[in-house]
Amino acid sequence: MRNFIFRCPATGYNVQGTHDSGGQPLPTYVSQNCLACRAVHLVNPATGKLMAEEVRRPVPPT
Ligand SMILES: [Zn+2]
Repeated sequence: MRNFIFRCPATGYNVQGTHDSGGQPLPTYVSQNCLACRAVHLVNPATGKLMAEEVRRPVPPT
């Protein structure tokens, strides 16, 4: 289980995210149910950046 902090784009709050990779390499982005705004965000668990902040093009769902 990896813990990381990301910034909710809707509220600006820092939110703790978790991802259980099951022993697999970390995916580039993981979906997180945001505790601040109740929406789902795609977050890079290595950097805590949102997908929307890092790239301007859609990526295929994992
Ligand atoms: Zn949010």
